[in-house]
Amino acid sequence: MTDEVDVIVVGAGVAGLSAATELGRLGLTCAVIEAADRIGGRAHTREIAPGVWFDLGCAWLVDGEANPFTRIADRLGIPLVRDRKADFTLARHRFHRNGAALSPEDRRACLAYFDACERAIAQAADAGRDIAVAQVVDTDTPFATPFKGYLGAAWGQDIDLISTVDYASSEGSNDYRLLSGLGNLVATWAKGIDVRLNAPARRIDWSGGGPGKAVTVETPQGTLAGRHVLITVSTGLLASGEISFTPDLPDWKLAAVEGLPMGTENKVGLHFDRDVFGPEGRAYYTSWADGAVPAKVDAGVVGQDMAVVLFGGRHAVALEQEGPAALGAFALDRVADIFGANIRRHLTRAFPTAWSTDRWTLGSWSCAAPGQAHQRAALARPVDERLFFAGEATSIGGQGTCHGAFATGVRAAQEIASLRQDGRDAAPPAAAVPEDGRPG
Ligand SMILES: Cc1cc2nc3c(=O)[nH]c(=O)nc-3n(C[C@H](O)[C@H](O)[C@H](O)COP(=O)(O)OP(=O)(O)OC[C@H]3O[C@@H](n4cnc5c(N)ncnc54)[C@H](O)[C@@H]3O)c2cc1C
Repeated sequence: MTDEVDVIVVGAGVAGLSAATELGRLGLTCAVIEAADRIGGRAHTREIAPGVWFDLGCAWLVDGEANPFTRIADRLGIPLVRDRKADFTLARHRFHRNGAALSPEDRRACLAYFDACERAIAQAADAGRDIAVAQVVDTDTPFATPFKGYLGAAWGQDIDLISTVDYASSEGSNDYRLLSGLGNLVATWAKGIDVRLNAPARRIDWSGGGPGKAVTVETPQGTLAGRHVLITVSTGLLASGEISFTPDLPDWKLAAVEGLPMGTENKVGLHFDRDVFGPEGRAYYTSWADGAVPAKVDAGVVGQDMAVVLFGGRHAVALEQEGPAALGAFALDRVADIFGANIRRHLTRAFPTAWSTDRWTLGSWSCAAPGQAHQRAALARPVDERLFFAGEATSIGGQGTCHGAFATGVRAAQEIASLRQDGRDAAPPAAAVPEDGRPG
């Protein structure tokens, strides 16, 4: 396969897709290659029961009005659930311990503790103390258990591995949802984008000199050549060595990848044959039993007879290693803790995710290690004006989100286009790659 394009985009998740759109708008040619047999990456919806859609990855439109997917959904005529955002807030969150709701007094104390933890994290970050969240919060209280569970699910990492500065830099609240799935929305929006599927980048060769010289990308379907490569894969993938670089990436870039390891949030979608929650039960919960790890439970908040159970960190990875039955059992136990054992009879399907071992992601999203929040800016920085980087891990503020990934794709496309305007990218691509796919 011979190809000479301005930009080879590696990965057709939200960042790669938004980059391709922006490159086209700016008049640059691109080839998008995707390792998997579908586009969307971590934006992926499955039908768990007829007409009931379960987002394995992103589900919320964070920062609702400002989120680009809100405009996209409106343009496509895809309805959003806009009126439940208050139900997604901590103020409405319910806490269940050993099967019973916390008393109003305990609930107030629990929320006050959560608030104190958030303030302690923000203060450390403001003072430039990039240390582990575990070092700034008081864990000697019974409410530390739900806090750890809550953060584990929200951040995908345990509190000894969460950077105060990274956590405090994250922006936006969970505002809107879609009954038809955010993954489906991304797939519908991106329908017209030309993507080569089942084409994993195996080697990126940027040995051919400085700016203006071609970079080649080897895939099992052949080799592509272009002026620039835009890499949008997760830091899990970059750290795995799945893609080799010739020459190796510089040490500062490798340090950025290492400083931004993947966290894991897993979910289990539990579908029931009837409304097991009742009109008063549809809410968000943190549910835990003494001696067991908590989980967050979305009990059909946006209307389906489906609970989504969310949990993160080491516990999520360990359960994933035990297998789907263990994930399903843990999730069902947490829902039964809230709604009673009878709900078990009405379960029609349990659908667990397994993000830490997902072949093309190796985790849910990047979480800066304590002391490493500055690595997001380093990860975003180009190498040699030829290797560019986008994806959620390169966002500061929108890390670990869909709209953050979207913005990084647009940012990287504009960076590449601005090189061309500067005239620094005037030289033509180097010699074409022969038909047999080997670089010349
Ligand atoms: C469980 C979970 C819940 C989440 N919830 C939310 C939420 O509610 N709201 C929100 O905004 N965000 C959420 N997110 C985060 C959001 O889904 C991601 O931040 C976003 O989708 C990442 O997009 P990306 O383009 O950076 O990466 P990806 O989606 O990972 O895209 C990278 C692409 O590269 C491909 N690839 C990998 N290796 C290669 C290779 N060698 N060659 C070519 N292609 C390759 C992958 O297959 C993938 O398609 C959630 C994520 C998870 C996992």
